[in-house]
Amino acid sequence: MTTHREPLQSVLGTIGETPLVRVHDSPDAVPVYAKLESFNPGASIKDRIGKHMLERMLERGDVSPGGTVIEPTAGNTGIGIAVAAGQLDLEAVFVVPERFSVEKQQLMRALGAEVINTPTEDGMGYAIDRAHELADELDNAAVPQQFSNHLNAEAHYETTAPEVDDALDGAVGALVAGCGTGGTLMGMSEYFREREPGTHVVAVEPAGSAYREFLGEEVTHEEYKTEGIGTHDIETNELFDPDLVDDIRSIPDRAVHEEMARLADEEGHLVASSSAANSIAAKAVARAIDDGTIDAPYDAVVTVFPDSSERYLSKGVYRPFEEWEG
Ligand code: PMP
Repeated sequence: MTTHREPLQSVLGTIGETPLVRVHDSPDAVPVYAKLESFNPGASIKDRIGKHMLERMLERGDVSPGGTVIEPTAGNTGIGIAVAAGQLDLEAVFVVPERFSVEKQQLMRALGAEVINTPTEDGMGYAIDRAHELADELDNAAVPQQFSNHLNAEAHYETTAPEVDDALDGAVGALVAGCGTGGTLMGMSEYFREREPGTHVVAVEPAGSAYREFLGEEVTHEEYKTEGIGTHDIETNELFDPDLVDDIRSIPDRAVHEEMARLADEEGHLVASSSAANSIAAKAVARAIDDGTIDAPYDAVVTVFPDSSERYLSKGVYRPFEEWEG
């Protein structure tokens, strides 16, 4: 974290206030800015929701100190929740489909959490059901459930969005962000649309993901390597609101792989696949604003770089495309 200059009492004090940095491969007249979320202590955007959801759940009495939180998660949310749980006197248990990165699972365990793997082919829906079953078996246990908990989007409404607003004096023309739960984009869209209803909002997903089914489109489901965004089952998502977006862009893995390498080589960003997908989409939106195809109230396009590529080195993110395991 870059802006704190006073000593802090807890690592939770370092969450948020991340830097907003220009992406240079974008038109001069319509700059793209990315919020670098690997500056958080658990090194991803999900630290924000870990802290926010657990603090609010404790305040509301959903769980009390000494209790357990159980979350179905692909990884970064687990790390974010584990960081917060450790400091807020809560135990953390995660139900994780096997295909997600081993680095993330090791970090969750290092933070004191228990990790339970479920078969990849059973998908996130099964992990969600398992988390609820486990919570029912314990006293004083709760499932934050990032896919349906409005506190997820609220974390971004209360922190990510106002930080961007401050940094750009409110002059945000478009928001572009990949959707896993959709919490990041929904929270930011709500915030900026309240202030400027014309804010152009674009969701990003990997090609082969099914978010466009929310718009009534027919989608051919395919596997993708890009991690952290996209869905094969829109039923598991209760946060995504199509009224809060203007468009959904699907980005192929091959383009994502190339952009990850370019961002590192040309701009010094060691960011992972969802950041690269966001960068590609944000630059396309910026070019469309520049040539008049998209109408936006201001020129700046804002996106997020949710986490770092270091978390995926074992999956070969910087090796040739065919060797990237995804
Ligand atoms: N990128 C990465 C690396 C993530 O882990 C996530 C969360 N799954 C996202 C992007 C998407 O964020 P959200 O869940 O807020 O849509």
